[in-house]
Amino acid sequence: MDEHELIEGRVKQLLADFPPATTDAAAFLGAQFDAGLAWVHFPEGSGGSGVSPKLQTLVQAELAEAGAPAAYMRNPIGYGMGAPTIVTHGTDAQKTRYLRPLFTGEEVWCQLFSEPGAGSDVGGLATRAVRDGDEWVVNGQKVWTSLGHLASRGLLLARTDPDAPKHRGLSYFVADMHAPGVDVRPLRQMTGEAEFNEVYLTDVRIPDAERLGDEGDGWRVAMTTLMNERVSIGGSVAPRGSGTISYAVDAWNGLPDDARDAGRRDELMRLWCQAEANRITNIRASQNRKKGVPGPEGSVGKLAFADLNKAIMSFTMNLLGPDAMLYDGYDRVALPREERTFGFSSPQQAFLRLQANSIEGGTSEIMRNILGERVLGLPGEPRVDKDVPWNEIPHN
Ligand SMILES: Cc1cc2nc3c(=O)[nH]c(=O)nc-3n(C[C@H](O)[C@H](O)[C@H](O)COP(=O)(O)OP(=O)(O)OC[C@H]3O[C@@H](n4cnc5c(N)ncnc54)[C@H](O)[C@@H]3O)c2cc1C
Repeated sequence: MDEHELIEGRVKQLLADFPPATTDAAAFLGAQFDAGLAWVHFPEGSGGSGVSPKLQTLVQAELAEAGAPAAYMRNPIGYGMGAPTIVTHGTDAQKTRYLRPLFTGEEVWCQLFSEPGAGSDVGGLATRAVRDGDEWVVNGQKVWTSLGHLASRGLLLARTDPDAPKHRGLSYFVADMHAPGVDVRPLRQMTGEAEFNEVYLTDVRIPDAERLGDEGDGWRVAMTTLMNERVSIGGSVAPRGSGTISYAVDAWNGLPDDARDAGRRDELMRLWCQAEANRITNIRASQNRKKGVPGPEGSVGKLAFADLNKAIMSFTMNLLGPDAMLYDGYDRVALPREERTFGFSSPQQAFLRLQANSIEGGTSEIMRNILGERVLGLPGEPRVDKDVPWNEIPHN
């Protein structure tokens, strides 16, 4: 049996044994994981079937068609960034412990990287982890922690050797978000939601068994997370005409005939073509990526996605005219935490939320720096603190 037949057969069996319409979402996703259809290219036993990653597209399409739940929607950070990091750097015991509940969404994950004094320069972060026997004691403050209020586990980057240069003194841990000393405080954003948080870590104890990668090698592990984050944000391949551009098309279709002038039609078509070019570029990039770890091309997709989303939503707001001012989402902050999601309730909310695309996951300026240096081969920025011990660099 070839790989294609193997996967086809497994999908059919899964749908026959666990019909999505009558199966609880977590139970379905658990069965999908056990059938090796969570990430088909992962090894058997880790949610995969050890086959070509190209076959994941087939799995996704057939399961979506059958109305199956999507793991990504239940746990976007765990699925898009946590899983590839665990599978690349985790021990067998860690893969067994983390991957299944991550995929089913029973354990939601968050990312504890950014700090008040370290965002673009996340390698300069100050949260300290100090070894105490078989445990680490962590103290510090993280910020902009998306989904921190819902998360059971956090991808934590902390400084374990302040005497080493900044990128070499970091280690990477999986934090239990319910451990004593973890204090999650919501931050309200302009959509009215509190989708992200401040996280204060006070004498939080993390077993050494929850360290991902070697001590002092946290930056290398974090690069896997960050490259996958860019791809998660900017690299998705939705069907033609769906996604952000659909808001503009819907707004256009809602216009009275006399408002559909040639200038606006031109602009709509220009944006539609750009969205389609971006979609096709992402298909090509995703096929290249499947050959290995995502490279700097993830930054191209993320940069283009951020600029295009803003342009499309500005145009959509112009089409909506005065209705664009009517936004009833501010009460979302009062929703019970469990009911908040990443979905958009209206084009107005999408307009407000998508402004953040050029900041989250690395700003557009940083994406341009990466592309300039790694793709175009331009001279790097001066990095005067690169080889200086972290504790000798002036900090605020
Ligand atoms: C919606 C949202 C969700 C987020 N979720 C998370 C999360 O879950 N976990 C997490 O850890 N973080 C998260 N972040 C944080 C995000 O990664 C940071 O905001 C981002 O990396 C920028 O860091 P900063 O905000 O500290 O800005 P700064 O780094 O202080 O940058 C300020 C400005 O200076 C520019 N700049 C900085 N350095 C350079 C340079 N070298 N060259 C040119 N320009 C430069 C920046 O582009 C920016 O315009 C989230 C952010 C947003 C908006």
